[in-house]
Amino acid sequence: MTRIAFIGVGNMGAGMASNQVKAGRAVSAFDLSAAALDRAVAGGCTPAGSVAEAVKDAEVVITMLPAGKHVRAVYETDILPNVPRTALLIDCSTIDVDSARAVGEMARAAGVRFGDAPVSGGIMAADAGTLAFMVGCEEADFAAFEDALSPMARAVFHAGALGAGQAAKICNNMVLGISMLGVCEAFALAEKLGLAPEKFFDIASKSSGQCWSLTTYCPWPGPVEAAPSNRGYEGGFLTALMLKDLKLAQDAAAKANATTPMGAQAEALFAMFDGLGYGQKDFSAVLQLMRGKLGELA
Ligand code: NAD
Repeated sequence: MTRIAFIGVGNMGAGMASNQVKAGRAVSAFDLSAAALDRAVAGGCTPAGSVAEAVKDAEVVITMLPAGKHVRAVYETDILPNVPRTALLIDCSTIDVDSARAVGEMARAAGVRFGDAPVSGGIMAADAGTLAFMVGCEEADFAAFEDALSPMARAVFHAGALGAGQAAKICNNMVLGISMLGVCEAFALAEKLGLAPEKFFDIASKSSGQCWSLTTYCPWPGPVEAAPSNRGYEGGFLTALMLKDLKLAQDAAAKANATTPMGAQAEALFAMFDGLGYGQKDFSAVLQLMRGKLGELA
């Protein structure tokens, strides 16, 4: 039975860890939060008293932590000094490219395989085992990453070398943030011009304005039943998380000397929306800011 150590079993990690259990793997879990750890135990994981205890016999270590500083600290202080050299180390958190590369270099120096493998998909996909993983690792190691991640995945992509997973994630989410704002602006303009929003949806979804933000995740309530816009913009992909990813993209762009003016605008708009108190709403709720109808948000 494959032995997995799972560090960080919060909103995303708990469901991911329990999908490893369902696949017949032995999962030793650790989290600083007792409530989070309890949820993982309810999902079939064995609780560990520390990161060191969780990783000491692990064949695979998976981390799902808030940000780069947590990932750097946990690998440097707790994982690398205690993990068997044969283990496969996988960080699934969304973090900055520099931290992913720095942790990868530390692991390489310690003689352990490491890859960055951030995910696309939210808590529902984590629970359902239908996340998409973008992996940055050595080509020769990719099959091992694919095997380790498969119980949690609908797709596992090899993005390239160390750090490429995080690069793919922030570039993808920059497209998502920008395209959602474009769709919201278009709905707000259509309404002002007296064009029925549902009619605009029917036409644009079969014209060149078609995109995922319109046809799968429509911010205007009605046309796409499964979209968060039909549930008061609850759940879904939180504005605060979209803002986090756009900040990561802007930081990376500044360091790489890349020109990303639309990404910068998107960051500023989602920062404003977050600052107005809507960080816990789905990011498509920004439509109501564009319409000047924030009062319609509970
Ligand atoms: P979360 O805050 O619910 O979970 C993170 C967990 O890490 C918490 O339970 C926290 O107690 C634990 N933790 C922090 N420091 C720790 C340490 N030193 N040792 C052990 N545990 C520690 O966050 P989340 O929503 O599960 O997100 C996790 C990561 O996944 C983030 O990087 C986030 O950007 C990314 N992500 C989230 C979503 C989403 O929809 N929530 C979607 C895609 C990616």
